[in-house]
Amino acid sequence: MVLQKMKYDFVIVGAGFAGAVLAERISEVLKKRVLLIEKRDHICGNCYDEYDEYGILIHKYGPHIFHTNSSTVFKYLSNFTEWRKYEHKVLAKYNNELFPIPINRLTISKFFNINLAENEVELFLKKQCEQTQKIDNSEDYVVSRIGQKLFDAFYKEYTYKQWGKYPAELSASVCRRLPIRSNDDSRYFTDKFQYMPAEGFSSLFKSMLSNPKIDIMLGKDYKSVIENISYKKLIYTGPLDYYFDYNLGKLNYRSIEFVLQNYKKVSFQESPVVNYVNKYVPFTRISEFKKITGQFADTTTICKEFASNKGEEYYPIIDAENLQLLKKYKKKTRRFANTIFIGRLAEFKYYNMDQIVARALKVFNHLAEQF
Ligand code: FAD
Ligand code: UDP
Repeated sequence: MVLQKMKYDFVIVGAGFAGAVLAERISEVLKKRVLLIEKRDHICGNCYDEYDEYGILIHKYGPHIFHTNSSTVFKYLSNFTEWRKYEHKVLAKYNNELFPIPINRLTISKFFNINLAENEVELFLKKQCEQTQKIDNSEDYVVSRIGQKLFDAFYKEYTYKQWGKYPAELSASVCRRLPIRSNDDSRYFTDKFQYMPAEGFSSLFKSMLSNPKIDIMLGKDYKSVIENISYKKLIYTGPLDYYFDYNLGKLNYRSIEFVLQNYKKVSFQESPVVNYVNKYVPFTRISEFKKITGQFADTTTICKEFASNKGEEYYPIIDAENLQLLKKYKKKTRRFANTIFIGRLAEFKYYNMDQIVARALKVFNHLAEQF
């Protein structure tokens, strides 16, 4: 007996923001049938949240804070959620003392035990800095902005723990993500829109994927089912090297083990996230979910992050070796005109949530011209 293949216009691999935005747009605007295949047993990609056994809303793959300057992205996502205003705050624990992060006037004053006025900060930092001729890596970038002492305290060891590489081995773009301020602004981000989805990310995704033209297949690696499906176009958001069976070699991603713990007290720490910047502390940071989601409860759940090279792919490691291999894989993708490669894993790019939503909307607009 010959088995009938399942028929779809589009197959999308991965139900993170890249896959979900495209599934929503294709089904809603183009009125096409979409099969969304996800290897995990849930939608929402790395932004997935759920209530733990203590009734606390937790982020399974580490704290996810939404922020954007794009009114297009904010307006689009507002179709699927209400929002709660939230401005993220982070403290760094260095030698057992807490400092505001990103580095600002308060951090600098406390660290050097001086009281600088705002208009004195730039000159003070300039004096801390050596002349750097070329910015070749993250260390060059940071040292040229704030000098060796602040770099050694707040960047060097934290980055080593996070990436398994020192800032000197990483592209300048990695540490450039973190601003450096001469004022007292202790918010982690300064974006125009800083909100969390009122009911969480999973609820937002559920609404985004509710169109009956979207079928969702959970718990399946696409390679195990794709031969039984006929489709016009494939949208792939999984790891780029995996798509090609690693035949040019492996791209390196950093993984993280998330260790969650519930405490029978209302509050655990001074701010939503505390970065432990010393190397002698084995984890990178502790997040306290209630302080991010705004939930009220008698107990609190925290998450410690232990970075490692083993485990699921989370962070593309942006160094010279990987960028070279990426170039070769990208060249190969050109022969697959019927496949769109998009997302943090498929493009090997350090996208934030809003950036990948913007990218997916752009890719959709291009796609819509062809259908
Ligand atoms: P993903 O969310 O990773 O989705 C890809 C999906 O594809 C996954 O669900 C995966 O299971 C699935 N998949 C992979 N391979 C296969 C396969 N073979 N078959 C089927 N399915 C497959 N961004 C922010 O804006 N703010 C933050 O605070 C923030 N914090 C972060 C914290 C951590 C620890 C991490 C790792 C990321 C964080 N991000 C944050 C980034 C954010 O997670 C990404 O921008 C976003 O998840 C990218 O969406 P995506 O769809 O490209 O990838
Ligand atoms: N970083 C650091 N110390 C800190 C915070 C960040 O050295 O206290 C470095 C680290 O290398 C990190 C990068 O700056 O990967 C960018 O920080 P961001 O918060 O954007 O990283 P994310 O956790 O979002 O990947």
